[in-house]
Amino acid sequence: MFLDRDGTLTQPRHYPSHPDQLVLQPGICTPLRALQERGFALVVVTNQSGLARGLFDLAALDTMHRRLRYLLHRQGVRLDGIYACPHHPRAVVRQYRRICPCRKPSPGMLHSAAHDLGLDVTRSWMIGDSACDIVAGRRAGTRTVLVGHGSTGNAQHPVTTARALRHVLHAVPDTPATGPAR
Ligand SMILES: [Zn+2]
Repeated sequence: MFLDRDGTLTQPRHYPSHPDQLVLQPGICTPLRALQERGFALVVVTNQSGLARGLFDLAALDTMHRRLRYLLHRQGVRLDGIYACPHHPRAVVRQYRRICPCRKPSPGMLHSAAHDLGLDVTRSWMIGDSACDIVAGRRAGTRTVLVGHGSTGNAQHPVTTARALRHVLHAVPDTPATGPAR
C-alpha cells in the first residue's frame, strides 16, 4: 500500500517544513490498521521538492517524518517505509537539481520500496490525491485509488476513487491476506 503524504495522509499545506505542520487527516487510523491487519505494508511515497527549493533541509524532513511515524504509531499504525524525492529539475539547491527517476509521476520510489521490502506491486495499491500519484502507481504496475476531488489527468485509465483516505476500505476489495507483504 503506497500512500501519498501531503493531502492524503496529512492535511494539505503549502510546503510543510516543521513537524507541527503535519496534521493527520481525520479518521484515517482505523482503515490503515485494518489494511495492515490484512497484510498490506504501509509505505509513504512523497515528492518533497521543498528540499530542492531550499525551504527546509534533510534534517528537518527527518524530524517531520519522525513526527509522522509517532502520530500514526500511537494509534496502532506502523509505517513500513517512508520514501521522499528531494529533487526538482529547476532546484535552487544544486545537489537536488536534476531530472530524477523518483519524482512522481515517475515510479522510482515505488520501485525502490517494492525492491527493499519485497512487495508484489501487482497486489499493491497507490493511494493519492493527485494525478501524479495515480500515474506513478500505474507506471509501477499497482492498482490506484484517487482520494478527494483531484483529476486523474488521464481519463483513459479509470481509477478507483474515494472521498478521502478514511473511506478507502470501500475502494480496496477484501483481498485475502496471504503471501508476502504488499
Ligand atoms: Zn527524485
